[in-house]
Amino acid sequence: MEKLAILGGPPMRDTVKNPWPKWPVWGKEEEVALLEVLNSGVWSYNGPKETEFNKRFAEFTGTDYSICTVNGTVTLQIALEALEIGLGDEVIIPGLTWQATAATVIDVNATPVIVDVLEDTWCIDPEAIKKAITPKTKAIVPVHLYGAFADMDAILKIAKEHDLYIIEDCAHKHGGEWKGKKAGSIGDIGSFSFQLSKHLTAGEGGAVTTNNPKLAERLDALRNCGRRPKGSLNSGDKGIGDYGDDGNFLQSGNLRITEFQAAILLEGLKRLPDQNRNRDDNGAYLNDLLSKIPGLTPLKRDIRETKKAYFNFAFRYDKKAFKDLPISRFREALQAELNIVVDACYEPLNNCSLYVPHTKPARHKLNDAYWSAIDPKKISLPVCERLFEHESVCLHHKILMGDKSDMDLIADAIEKIYQHVDDLM
Ligand SMILES: *Cc1c(COP(=O)(O)O)cnc(C)c1O
Repeated sequence: MEKLAILGGPPMRDTVKNPWPKWPVWGKEEEVALLEVLNSGVWSYNGPKETEFNKRFAEFTGTDYSICTVNGTVTLQIALEALEIGLGDEVIIPGLTWQATAATVIDVNATPVIVDVLEDTWCIDPEAIKKAITPKTKAIVPVHLYGAFADMDAILKIAKEHDLYIIEDCAHKHGGEWKGKKAGSIGDIGSFSFQLSKHLTAGEGGAVTTNNPKLAERLDALRNCGRRPKGSLNSGDKGIGDYGDDGNFLQSGNLRITEFQAAILLEGLKRLPDQNRNRDDNGAYLNDLLSKIPGLTPLKRDIRETKKAYFNFAFRYDKKAFKDLPISRFREALQAELNIVVDACYEPLNNCSLYVPHTKPARHKLNDAYWSAIDPKKISLPVCERLFEHESVCLHHKILMGDKSDMDLIADAIEKIYQHVDDLM
């Protein structure tokens, strides 16, 4: 084998001659749809594209209602608000996730209770949830992270026993399935992001899903300045009722999506099932190859996960098998071979540069006890920390959008590093 790319040798993938599949994916269909919106003059506010997307996305997720909003952060916020979670309430979330999962909890004045994850799926540890429950606990927010699914059987059981809500953070899981049920249809509310990095995207955007008509009505109002939805939402009139006895409107603001975004999402959603299948086939094949290389562990594929939906491709690295080569050096070497960014997982929430509640006392210092309870530095998350510091390797999901020869090449690149590890010392 030739010299490692990081030491000046030829990279395994010459991305000038042979680029990785592009992300995002679009075509003539998007151009036509965008012009249609432009020329219609209906650019926002419950237009035909948004209405149709909501209908299709509800079908796609196996739910009764889908409601679009500006992003996958606001979705979490309005989910908490729809469930009337706020000051005095606790919400259990995993320590390994994008900062929004935690930030939205403090933005509704509730207290995030951040717990550790399982090392084989990187998703929330059900035993840790049990230990974290107090009389103040109101909800659990499992995150179906990267190529894995939170253990929804265990989480549903805990939620039932303790009368807790479940908000599924599905920002990574459009189309994933647990025992035949789609992500976003298992808990009380599903939260989706359509940010550019996600595998269904309009640049920005988000949607909440639910089977509960009362929640659907509240969610719809919360993204639309508190206005009551007129008539049915998107799948027939399910007997949507009043907010309460005392009024028709809710306090909220404008969190609406535009028709341009909905037009792009509608086209993307048509492509998504095939893309998911392709990524799943390639992911399974690549995981097989990786498990043959000493020191590498793919994310566990739970047999209850009946459909995978990969957001990024992640695996674990054990430096002992690579003569103690630090993981940062391993990632750099792999990045040089593949000409694509090779990253660690999210920063754990107890030491996350973008989750810093104490930088905003005017907003978050509700009282001294609260201020101290939301200090992320006080938590210990040994598994999250180990994954972030020593074990996680993450690549963009576009690497899974080609064919098997791309997977062979990725495995060969790692094998090359393994064979030449002495050169990196
Ligand atoms: C991306 C993401 C979000 C937030 O979505 P945005 O659309 O970027 O606001 C929330 N949770 C997780 C797990 C995410 O990956």
